[in-house]
Amino acid sequence: MPDSIKSKWGSWAIPPDPVRADEIKETLYADIVVLGAGIAGVSCALRAAQCGANVLVLEKSGSWSGRGGNIGVANSSYMKSCGIENDITEIAREWIKRCGNRCDEKLVWQFLKNSGRAMDWLTDILAQPAYGARPALQGCAYRGETYRENYGSHRFFGGPMEKKGMRAGGADAVFAMYSEAVKLGTRFLFKTPAEQLLKENGRVTGVYARRETGDYLLVIAQRGIILATGDIAGNDEMCEDLAPLANRCAVKLYFPKGVNKGDGHRMGLWAGGSFEDAPFAAMIHPQAFHPSNFCFLYVNQDGSRFMNEDNYIQGRCLAILRERITYAWSIVDSAWREKLPETLRCGGGIAWGQDFEVGEPEFDLAKEEKSFERGIERGLIVTADTPEELAGKMGVPADEFVSTLTRYNTLAVSGYDEDFGKRKEMMIPLEKPPYYGVKIGPALLAVVGGLRVDCQMRVLDDDNMPISGLYAIGNTAGGRYGTDYPMVIHGTSHGTALTFGYLLGEQLGNI
Ligand SMILES: Cc1cc2nc3c(=O)[nH]c(=O)nc-3n(C[C@H](O)[C@H](O)[C@H](O)COP(=O)(O)OP(=O)(O)OC[C@H]3O[C@@H](n4cnc5c(N)ncnc54)[C@H](O)[C@@H]3O)c2cc1C
Repeated sequence: MPDSIKSKWGSWAIPPDPVRADEIKETLYADIVVLGAGIAGVSCALRAAQCGANVLVLEKSGSWSGRGGNIGVANSSYMKSCGIENDITEIAREWIKRCGNRCDEKLVWQFLKNSGRAMDWLTDILAQPAYGARPALQGCAYRGETYRENYGSHRFFGGPMEKKGMRAGGADAVFAMYSEAVKLGTRFLFKTPAEQLLKENGRVTGVYARRETGDYLLVIAQRGIILATGDIAGNDEMCEDLAPLANRCAVKLYFPKGVNKGDGHRMGLWAGGSFEDAPFAAMIHPQAFHPSNFCFLYVNQDGSRFMNEDNYIQGRCLAILRERITYAWSIVDSAWREKLPETLRCGGGIAWGQDFEVGEPEFDLAKEEKSFERGIERGLIVTADTPEELAGKMGVPADEFVSTLTRYNTLAVSGYDEDFGKRKEMMIPLEKPPYYGVKIGPALLAVVGGLRVDCQMRVLDDDNMPISGLYAIGNTAGGRYGTDYPMVIHGTSHGTALTFGYLLGEQLGNI
């Protein structure tokens, strides 16, 4: 490893001592070896197996991983059946703009053109009687002028994992693909973390994995090794170097805890791969405390307003982090019941309105009342009859808070937000007691940056040359984002993992 890398980054970047021959207790062979049984790794394994390849998957934990509900793609057949079509040119432009032009445009287009096909494939699998999960399209999307969101986020309801109490969507998708891959003879070795790659004559040919017994297994791959070990969020030291915002979130939600340590990123680096430019983008959603964020007035811990609250979820989180705080207070008065639904016509989206599917009603007051009650019971919402009393309960200076609220109400009545430029239809006065303070804060879901890859998902070195035999997908791969996680369509972290996994499985499976 060059000295420049050693000094640039922490100890995580230093390669381990090579595995000794006497530590290897078994050698296995496969056409394709996938490292990591998350959505990216499992879709790749299944697609390659369907194309006739002999596939082996090494997984660090005791099971496959699937979480979350939304899988975002463009123009699936299901969307067509709902009468929805994405304008992918507009989406691509918006995606690239929101990523500060740091994403790889070729990858973005490859995703947008192929993700509908990958989703159709997954939908057909999940429709089989063994899984019986029906697709739905997430209906809530932010309709603001600056950050429009598009439909395309798929969820699946009625599957076996949802029946077991898991969130509908991600878990059933991975479970179904895993089960199909097993049926085709794919070998999954659990509790067998990959630790190092074997590189011979410039080509990555094998991987050393640690067995539960402490010794090593060597797996030789004829066609390629695929790094699909997820993200770096569980490795604080790597986050500090590559995605410092990730460490400043109020909570990190990834589960199972401790597996997403950036193992694949490091193995790729040690084998000669290069990272996209840091800082990596991170998926940060405001669900660390109360899930409903509303859109009226936000104050920081000084009791001051600090942002235009008319913003989508990433934007709100980044504004809170920018204040160097882990939570803010969203202020609501007792007229929220009428005022909130009014804002959904031109705002809305996750954590603003409600989660619903296309074809369902947009706002259910009873549901929101329940969530409000739960928030109060859990101490995440405080309430008071006067602004002064509310400030005391929120622990912010009363003088400053009262003056912030008065100023906000004056601007709202005037119809022009000269402090932060919020649209006038969103400037709604807060004057009807009791008042509520809702605690909201950024939660880290994933760090979505990694190794540079080309459109064949081959890991690239610093000179843009592919490392023979080595591929990366999912959150181990870079290039999809940059600067920020764009949310032009919700759930494209899953969507890109699925699509690039599917495409790579087909590419290597058909060799
Ligand atoms: C609570 C929560 C909800 C989320 N909801 C959504 C959502 O709705 N939509 C969305 O798009 N995204 C969502 N995300 C993010 C999403 O889960 C990830 O972006 C996605 O799982 C990435 O897929 P992946 O296959 O790259 O990695 P992962 O799903 O993280 O899978 C990586 C796998 O590799 C294994 N592994 C790690 N190291 C090794 C090793 N050395 N050897 C072998 N195996 C290894 C891990 O154990 C894991 O099974 C959510 C995240 C969280 C935490």
